[in-house]
Amino acid sequence: MESRRSSARRPLVVGNWKMHGGTAANERLLADLRARLDAHALEAVDVAVLPPYPYLAQASAWLADAAVSWGAQDVAAWPEGAYTGEVSAAMLLDLGCRWAVAGHSERRALLGETDALVCAKAQHALAAGLGAIVCVGETLAEREAGDTEAVLQRQIGALDPLAEQSFAAELVIAYEPVWAIGTGRSATPEQAGAAHGFLRSRLAAAGFPADRMRILYGGSVKPESAAALFALAEVDGGLVGGASLDAAAFAGICLHAAHSARTSA
Ligand code: PGA
Repeated sequence: MESRRSSARRPLVVGNWKMHGGTAANERLLADLRARLDAHALEAVDVAVLPPYPYLAQASAWLADAAVSWGAQDVAAWPEGAYTGEVSAAMLLDLGCRWAVAGHSERRALLGETDALVCAKAQHALAAGLGAIVCVGETLAEREAGDTEAVLQRQIGALDPLAEQSFAAELVIAYEPVWAIGTGRSATPEQAGAAHGFLRSRLAAAGFPADRMRILYGGSVKPESAAALFALAEVDGGLVGGASLDAAAFAGICLHAAHSARTSA
């Protein structure tokens, strides 16, 4: 397994706004991000934001001519039809989305999303041409019980059917330990490196082109913790929640990712 970052794995930093914001606050945030993330900053890092569904059109208006892409925090597991409240991958593409997240731990925990449903969501996103960002990660109880790898194996193993299909769009994995999300306590570089290495080897064993796949770290990524995490060859960027609502903090995290790409090139 190649440990050095391959050129296909340009760092990616994704801002997950969760259920925050509104028209006026988003406008300030998007304008501030545009000002901070100029073309030079974006030469060595891919950046995306994930506003709530109703604000995707607003993101598209503000970011259409910027190098920052946008996407959704979720996507339907069906292509179209009588699924009240759901939003299809085709609709997201229509709004210019580049990405859709599937299986965020908040949805797994609060809405009972199963591994099979998460795989179906990713499959529909990829088939429609949307990049799918699939989140996996263990709870604190699972880590303390020594079950981290078993949980990751189960969650990543549920994606095995996708390895047999070829998609033009990109499958990205986000390792987000549940105990690190929104707690201010990010995984240590050792913990993240071990989990990412495990995930990459499981992906390779299932037939995915693992050396070319981006695996992001998520869970209390801040400007202060980003440099050490992104310096790891196994970490290809971040999925950022709380800090993505602060343009200065988010831009700082993006610049750490760009720096990690430049120094490992
Ligand atoms: P956090 O959230 O950065 O606020 O911990 C990360 C996420 O849930 O994607």
